Amino acid sequence: MTLDLKALVRTIPDYPKKGILFRDITTLIEHPEGFKASIEQVAAAHRHLGVTHVAGIEARGFIFGAGVAIALGVGFIPVRKKGKLPGETIGQNYALEYGVDTIEIHADVLDSNDTVLLVDDLIATGGTAIAAVGLLRRTGARVANAAFIIDLPDLGGAAKLEAEGVEVSTLMA
Ligand code: IMP
Repeated sequence: MTLDLKALVRTIPDYPKKGILFRDITTLIEHPEGFKASIEQVAAAHRHLGVTHVAGIEARGFIFGAGVAIALGVGFIPVRKKGKLPGETIGQNYALEYGVDTIEIHADVLDSNDTVLLVDDLIATGGTAIAAVGLLRRTGARVANAAFIIDLPDLGGAAKLEAEGVEVSTLMA
């Protein structure tokens, strides 16, 4: 019988604030077969691309992205919140519901010979992923694919990312 990965994700009401239904992947990654299967399914769907790197978005994108990078036999790039990387960085601002945030990568980590698969746990409005794609592309690298464990399709992020020329794959909605 195939494992029901969706059943391993729990929904927590009113987190981080009232009215939000938070999709919590900690129950998926605590489950050894569930964690392994989610990584393997993302890797299998993208193996044919021959990517040179996987980029994961802080922080839950690190958990899945690192596993996918190992499964594909490529290096991992952490897309970090502002001020966390020690070397010279390039950054990209993006709008939050209230305010602005910044993500960064090391300036010398990629070049125009590279092809990147972007990985995060969840896509909602797509704002974070679109900022990450823009940032990664500024290095000259190609970013044509992004993988998420969970899609919240009502928020339209995957469609917006596709409109930016990025093919989106998700394991569950
Ligand atoms: P977006 O920028 O609106 O697409 O939001 C996606 C980002 O917010 C990702 O980095 C997610 O980790 C995080 N996020 C938003 N909602 C949830 C949720 O319900 N569960 C886990 N992460 C979430």
